[in-house]
Amino acid sequence: MLVVMKSDFADEQLVAVLAHIRGLGFTPHVLPGDHSVAVGITGNRRALNPGEFLALPGVKEAIPVTRPFKLASRDFQRRDSEVRVGDVVFGPGRFVVIAGPCAVESAEQTLRIAHKVKAAGAHMLRGGAFKPRSSPYSFQGLGLDGLRILREAARAVGLPTVTEALDLRSLEMVYEHADMIQIGARNMQNFTLLQEVGRLDKPVMLKRGMSATIDEWLMAAEYILEQGNSRIVLCERGVRSFDPYTRNILDLSAVPVIKGLSHLPVMVDPSHGTGQRDKVIPMALASLAAGANAVMVDVHDRPGEALCDGPQALLPEEFQSLRTRLGRLAEVMAVTLQPSAARASP
Ligand code: PEP
Ligand code: MN
Repeated sequence: MLVVMKSDFADEQLVAVLAHIRGLGFTPHVLPGDHSVAVGITGNRRALNPGEFLALPGVKEAIPVTRPFKLASRDFQRRDSEVRVGDVVFGPGRFVVIAGPCAVESAEQTLRIAHKVKAAGAHMLRGGAFKPRSSPYSFQGLGLDGLRILREAARAVGLPTVTEALDLRSLEMVYEHADMIQIGARNMQNFTLLQEVGRLDKPVMLKRGMSATIDEWLMAAEYILEQGNSRIVLCERGVRSFDPYTRNILDLSAVPVIKGLSHLPVMVDPSHGTGQRDKVIPMALASLAAGANAVMVDVHDRPGEALCDGPQALLPEEFQSLRTRLGRLAEVMAVTLQPSAARASP
């Protein structure tokens, strides 16, 4: 239920509405709007009767919200959310480019690649220290050492970082070392992990599960929102399908679908989405054209030696070319590539 206050409501009336909702055992969420204030209600397991709220002084409308997700939905918040990571802003009218190796392999490798992606115009550095691998015999990541390496490299080049937390133990470490916490496809429905992330004061990148519907993905975001953390960027990374020509089917139509359903920023990972280097640039450009707020790509200067996902990594010069083309396309799309307002403003 969404309770919309009249434009001239009195503060005591809002307080009374909040108290009424709490009295029913539900949770009110105050949602400031352009002309008035709305109050979203969560925690109800049965449909609510709009009449009960319309009867309260100062209330203009009571709108039933039929979607399973509430806080993530456009019904609860009309305007697009902005999620800030340092100086970088994910939100309307902007486009963020994240790049880096799939995995942190060594201090030298990470620093080398960090310098290259920064020079080419990346806004954030990626790199996994805890790697979710299909085989227990594959490289599992450098763990805490990897987080330290990523942070050092990022500081050296002046970029914020995003890296994956695999479980509650690694989450503590990622929280300490990274600027944004990545929840990977395999963990999209790890509800205890989502709740824990929801209690943290750090932005989250929530990847789509490899066989998740869009409703399931938004419900996963709802787990984080419901705990109080609203700094979420959704990441489309492809879904499992029948066709072997690409690693996954990158669902770019999810971008406009999400834009209709939710106020959360959405980004695309065409590297994991396609699994093949030569498909990454076209799909990254298409992501911007489809209305995504960001793109994240794997970059490696020696992909043949990469310990993880070498075949999908762009070479630094390919990334440079992509970045240049994204800049041109951004003009056509009337969106601003970072640097963000913080740095661009006088
Ligand atoms: C990654 O980005 O490193 C990764 C493992 O991605 P995903 O969770 O989408 O497979
Ligand atoms: Mn990978």
